[in-house]
Amino acid sequence: MKKLPFPLVKVSSFKTPSFCVDGRAGKVNGEIYGPYPQMLGASLMPAVLEWLISKPEEDFSKVIEDVFNRLKEFGYSLGVHTSTHAIEGRSDCGFADNLKTILSTFREKTEEIKGVLTKVDVNFSDEIWQKIREILGKVNLKSLPTGKELIGQAESLGAVKQVLEGEHQEVVAVVNLASGKTLDVDKNQEHQAFNLDLWLVREMADKFGWDQNLTDALSLGLYVATEMVLVEGKGKSRLPILINQ
Ligand SMILES: [Zn+2]
Repeated sequence: MKKLPFPLVKVSSFKTPSFCVDGRAGKVNGEIYGPYPQMLGASLMPAVLEWLISKPEEDFSKVIEDVFNRLKEFGYSLGVHTSTHAIEGRSDCGFADNLKTILSTFREKTEEIKGVLTKVDVNFSDEIWQKIREILGKVNLKSLPTGKELIGQAESLGAVKQVLEGEHQEVVAVVNLASGKTLDVDKNQEHQAFNLDLWLVREMADKFGWDQNLTDALSLGLYVATEMVLVEGKGKSRLPILINQ
């Protein structure tokens, strides 16, 4: 494993809202928030996981409401984001705006994604991959709200909205397993990184009763599919994945 070129800092998954894996720095109500845990689309990630794992045939907007209410009961603070250059009709959270394309990519490129993970020594059983194919085959993508609608719904359910600034310049996709720690995005703008705090997703998996291996595989598969859509899909080369134990 390569050493991270930037330090991790302590963070509370309860006191601080989760924000996105996005490497750009941002503000909440015009102020820098400080370090925050990071997941795909911020608090949208556990909603997507619950949808995929437990209710793939349900409308996603119904699942969000249920999951956000449960996250609040568990004591988590909720977050979402937009950016200063979100164009009309879009949120500029790439995960939210492109969720349908990300899930279609995950479905169509499952083998390639499995290969990307194998290269960084992340392996799951054939049973897990089979389960993922089944889930992606039946998930209801037809009635998926737009990114802007998703962010609006999240805010109405109590999520804090962060507004990111500047341009994407991520050079790596970090998977952070160090519990209670995260990247300090504000102090990391010289070498921006996507960062997924998988330890927090695992913590939530325990509370929602998701299978740990399935949660890891879906989370990392979604992360790679998101990278394919948002980075490679814009003509940039594939980002290296760095796993911080
Ligand atoms: Zn985002």
